[in-house]
Amino acid sequence: MKKYLLPAGMLAIFEIVAVTLWQTKDNLFYLLNFSYIGISIALGISLYIREYKYARRVTQLLVGCYMLVYLGLICSENMQIEGFWYYLFAGVFEAATIHYVVAKIFGPLFFGRGWCGYACWTAMVLDFLPYKLPKQPRKNLGWIRYITFLLSLVFVAALFLAHVGNMERIMFWSFIIGNLLYYAVGIILAFYFKDNRAFCKYICPVTVFLKPMSYFSMLRIKCDKSKCISCGKCRRVCPMDVDVTDNSRKRANGTECILCLECVKSCPKKAL
Ligand code: SF4
Ligand code: SF4
Ligand code: SF4
Repeated sequence: MKKYLLPAGMLAIFEIVAVTLWQTKDNLFYLLNFSYIGISIALGISLYIREYKYARRVTQLLVGCYMLVYLGLICSENMQIEGFWYYLFAGVFEAATIHYVVAKIFGPLFFGRGWCGYACWTAMVLDFLPYKLPKQPRKNLGWIRYITFLLSLVFVAALFLAHVGNMERIMFWSFIIGNLLYYAVGIILAFYFKDNRAFCKYICPVTVFLKPMSYFSMLRIKCDKSKCISCGKCRRVCPMDVDVTDNSRKRANGTECILCLECVKSCPKKAL
């Protein structure tokens, strides 16, 4: 049972967040929401421990579908970056703002880009595409993310400045249209660059938060140099082109690691 301490610990952390938010905000939603996410993550880790091949995908589908279908489509909560700006400007500290603070701004200080590996509903679909491993070298196009980031900010700021009415409805439709655009662009880029995660590498505006915060992440893949035989297998199976054998924080593409553990699984010397 000792090996299940990690999933139990993760579940306990999420339960603490769930109960704290439920009590402080007097809203049962937070208890159910964070309990569900905690159970999904604990289940994924348990399956990984049991060496189930699709453990990460189980968590990704459980959390991603819940966020996209239940929170986004049924509860009309815009969890895209536009929704974050909207609730932030409106001074509302509710689901979308809490989601960003926990998963994408301060959470990455602890669990890096775990969001990108285990919960994102955009990547949940992109990961079904055929190019799990990039078939081409990485392109120098990361600057595009700053443009999409600025566009999302300007879009919401313009709505506020123009005093547009029925903002909730606009946010709901921007969630739907935004997601459809993300999927369309993500799929086209995946086939164009022969890389499922091309959208994540070059376009996604959320990485403007995720990358700098995950630089300081407590949770990282580290290499035991005394075991490593420099076979390069870990680098070849990495979907994000991370130089994982370099333990420094400045390692190549270090802030791109999505903690998918493909490198760990493939290492013949169990050095990671
Ligand atoms: S980079 Fe963006 S699209 Fe890709 S997994 Fe992370 S949040 Fe999702
Ligand atoms: S797969 Fe393992 S042994 Fe090979 S280079 Fe990577 S860490 Fe070293
Ligand atoms: S293969 Fe390893 S280094 Fe690459 S993203 Fe996955 S966990 Fe990170």
